[in-house]
Amino acid sequence: MHRTTLGDFELTVVSDGTYFLDGGAFFGVVPKTLWSKKVTPDEQNRLEAGLNSLLVCTGDKNVLIETGIGNKLPDRLVQIFKQPAKLLDNLHIAGVAPEDIDIVINTHLHFDHCGWNTVRRGGQIVATFPNAKYYAQRGEWEHGCLQLERDAISYMSPNYDPLIESGQMILLDGDREILPGVSVKVIPGHTANMQAVMIESGGVNEKQKACYISDLIPTSNHLDITWAMAFDLFPLQTIENRKKYYAQAIPEKWLTVFTHDVAKPWGYVERDERSRLVLAPLA
Ligand SMILES: [Zn+2]
Repeated sequence: MHRTTLGDFELTVVSDGTYFLDGGAFFGVVPKTLWSKKVTPDEQNRLEAGLNSLLVCTGDKNVLIETGIGNKLPDRLVQIFKQPAKLLDNLHIAGVAPEDIDIVINTHLHFDHCGWNTVRRGGQIVATFPNAKYYAQRGEWEHGCLQLERDAISYMSPNYDPLIESGQMILLDGDREILPGVSVKVIPGHTANMQAVMIESGGVNEKQKACYISDLIPTSNHLDITWAMAFDLFPLQTIENRKKYYAQAIPEKWLTVFTHDVAKPWGYVERDERSRLVLAPLA
């Protein structure tokens, strides 16, 4: 298990398992001759992708960022994506029960980021984390409700509508501190309203920072500013916002957490001697 401390907080990567995505879709306009030097696709040109949630234990509250694919996929998508559904098992291994989660944050509402928000129980769809307040961006939810031709498949309302109806999910209008040391920041590119999660802890002079960057930079193989996924709705904004991110995260040594990296869920982005972006592992 990947676990570290950040100031007074404990951070644990908790995985829902892995799934397979088309290599071309995963690397957008980047030619296969380039990306296949970093990762090897299977015979169907698919790459294994992680489903990394982040558990933040502040000492006072347990915060879960992202909830993977979950266990409610329709049969047709189970055929395509399987249904790893490992998150609750891995939370248990991390020592946390669903009842112990106080806050759930969804960076956006694609099915592979909020699937375990809810479960089916007795013919109803209910919160997986009964004592949690859930947070997502209102603009993201509104976009999902539109069910547009381009990305309707990514938005499955049972993952969030029952929580909005019960009052358990709070829709945010932009950047916001969720609790001391944990805040969300809207970073467009992948979607218009995707939010990253900033985590800060420690004394004034030795404050340590981490960022769950979500699909702005899905894996450590996507560090190059132009290596963006074909799923991104606003690729020019992805490029601009990656530049902005590196301008802060590199000098301030933020621990970057990647949602879809199987082998390296986190690390420090740096520039090597030829100024290329590389990932330094956690010491
Ligand atoms: Zn994703």
